Amino acid sequence: MDVERVRSLAKRLGCAYSEEEPLARHFVLGIGGEPEFYIRPGSWSQAEEALLRLWDWDIPFKVLGSGSNLMAADGPLPFGVLHLARLGGRMHWEGTSVEADADIPMPALVGESVRRGLRGLEGMGGIPGTVGGAVIMNAGAFGNDVAGVVTGVALIERGLGLRWHEASDFAFAYRASDVKIFGIVAGCRMTFMTGDPDGIKARFEEAKARREATQPWRSATAGSVFKNPPGDSAGRLLEGLGFKGKRRGGAGFSDLHANFLVNHGGATFEDAFALCEEARAAAAAAGVALEYEMEIWR
Ligand SMILES: Cc1cc2nc3c(=O)[nH]c(=O)nc-3n(C[C@H](O)[C@H](O)[C@H](O)COP(=O)(O)OP(=O)(O)OC[C@H]3O[C@@H](n4cnc5c(N)ncnc54)[C@H](O)[C@@H]3O)c2cc1C
Repeated sequence: MDVERVRSLAKRLGCAYSEEEPLARHFVLGIGGEPEFYIRPGSWSQAEEALLRLWDWDIPFKVLGSGSNLMAADGPLPFGVLHLARLGGRMHWEGTSVEADADIPMPALVGESVRRGLRGLEGMGGIPGTVGGAVIMNAGAFGNDVAGVVTGVALIERGLGLRWHEASDFAFAYRASDVKIFGIVAGCRMTFMTGDPDGIKARFEEAKARREATQPWRSATAGSVFKNPPGDSAGRLLEGLGFKGKRRGGAGFSDLHANFLVNHGGATFEDAFALCEEARAAAAAAGVALEYEMEIWR
């Protein structure tokens, strides 16, 4: 890989840059080695130029939001990372709609929608992540998801730059979308419904409290390891198979929720991944094919 080219690009644009940046520092789970380069643009115009150049030069890279759904192998990784968080992006509200840049934290956007008495994402109270990451995986909880409110998506596209699309141009499904195939998310538009503001606030608080009581909220984790299989819950299934609280080295399934992997301190990728694969094999032996929700980079 032509890392020297990337280094001078980062310098010219004024982006933060490193060739020894452990992803563990940026992933909530705290497991991940060093990509060939790590760039953090300071603005969306820097991000757009960096993306267009990396594509022009065919340099392999991945995009990082707030790292709340990710785990990576330890040691050197065969790609670069472009970090699209804290770029000084904005959200602009008008009536029941918002236009938000992709680096905006979802808790800020969801909290503001609830403060304005708007319905649509109140079940997502407290879920971490950026707007970009939430659009990509159609984040959701308690009956709400991004697909239910998103009306437009701004993408930075290979060879083209920034373009807006109707949300209906994309396919959204349970914890999935095809948005990433077309480009990198720079922002989105969402339209909410009106409702009883006190009821919406109560639902938001209830969802948050329920999550804090049943999930390892303050731990190093990446949220759900597996998607729920049709008609069932992965947590219930894994608990029944004896995985709740099960540990391997510094990694373990949470004592609170069997589908949450926790880094209890010093967890290696080898231990964490082996434990996840053990759970997946046990589920397969019980006749259920589990699909990863957490994304694994290696
Ligand atoms: C304690 C905890 C609880 C959670 N609970 C839930 C839950 O209830 N429901 C739920 O849906 N999720 C949950 N999650 C998972 C996580 O919050 C969501 O997946 C979130 O949307 C990820 O956003 P992110 O910015 O952290 O993305 P990252 O983890 O940084 O990245 C995830 C994926 O999105 C891509 N990506 C990020 N930004 C962009 C962009 N701008 N353009 C293109 N691709 C991009 C990355 O390349 C990667 O493929 C939880 C996580 C934790 C830690």
